[in-house]
Amino acid sequence: MSFLNAEEPTVCDLIADFGIKLLWHPSLGVELGNNLQTLLRDCIAGTIPLDILVFEGSVVNAPNGTGEWNRFADRAMKDWLADLAKVAKFIVAVGDCATWGGIPAMSPNPSESEGLQFLKRQEGGFLGKDFVSQAGLPVINIPGCPAHPDWITQILVAIATGRIADIAFDELNRPQTFFNTYTQTGCTRNVHFAYKASTAEFGQRKGCLFYDLGCRGPMTHSSCNRILWNRVSSKTRAGMPCLGCTEPEFPFFDLKPGTVFKTQTVMGVPKELPPGVNKKDYALLTMVAKDAAPPWAEEDFFTV
Ligand code: SF4
Repeated sequence: MSFLNAEEPTVCDLIADFGIKLLWHPSLGVELGNNLQTLLRDCIAGTIPLDILVFEGSVVNAPNGTGEWNRFADRAMKDWLADLAKVAKFIVAVGDCATWGGIPAMSPNPSESEGLQFLKRQEGGFLGKDFVSQAGLPVINIPGCPAHPDWITQILVAIATGRIADIAFDELNRPQTFFNTYTQTGCTRNVHFAYKASTAEFGQRKGCLFYDLGCRGPMTHSSCNRILWNRVSSKTRAGMPCLGCTEPEFPFFDLKPGTVFKTQTVMGVPKELPPGVNKKDYALLTMVAKDAAPPWAEEDFFTV
């Protein structure tokens, strides 16, 4: 559904301007039943070239490694995936489930879920650590819950136009262009963060969501405040804390009661600080920030 909301470029642009032929998609594919199986088998046989395989959802292996808990087109989904992965030129994993296993892979992981090439932060996953697709690349990971639609379409354009070699990847195979900065980069609440002015409740337009509401913006790699959602907004702009959904550890603390939308603290100091900041410096910084905060730091100066 996120993919269908893409704007830069749109799904129609992919087809009309970039020459991508969409073979099948759960909402747009016309083939059903036997026809879908024939299409997939033709891809596996090489009768239809499969340039890009985009996979969404975790790979379900239960029960007992059979994958029968997630059947698709009359077979375990993981069996289709194993066959299609052998012939695809490029593979793109979209969303946390496909990249690292996501919420289904939370302990105790009853569905034996994993991502295509990772299980949480551990390399391997369903296809294995050393897997490369026909074009010689590992699975391209576009995490997020959901993944930003423009991250998906822009990567597809990079592949379709032969520019994917220009894109650098991080150690989790995420395109750096989207994931080398933090969610906090471009957040309209940065000035409130600097002066330690806190947001007290969801949707409030003033303050920063880090101090009380558990915002993970300073330690999450994403471009949510650089490449806006629907071109206008983001979670933090709308008054909702960043949940860190582009990192393999999501959902953090296994959603234990009291850990969601609540900053975890020890003696008033957040347990997790922005990377590279030590507790001593942080304590000093916040004392000075509070002291130096001008009255307008507590004001709502959000503009639309
Ligand atoms: S709301 Fe979150 S992302 Fe924005 S400045 Fe505060 S901590 Fe950073």
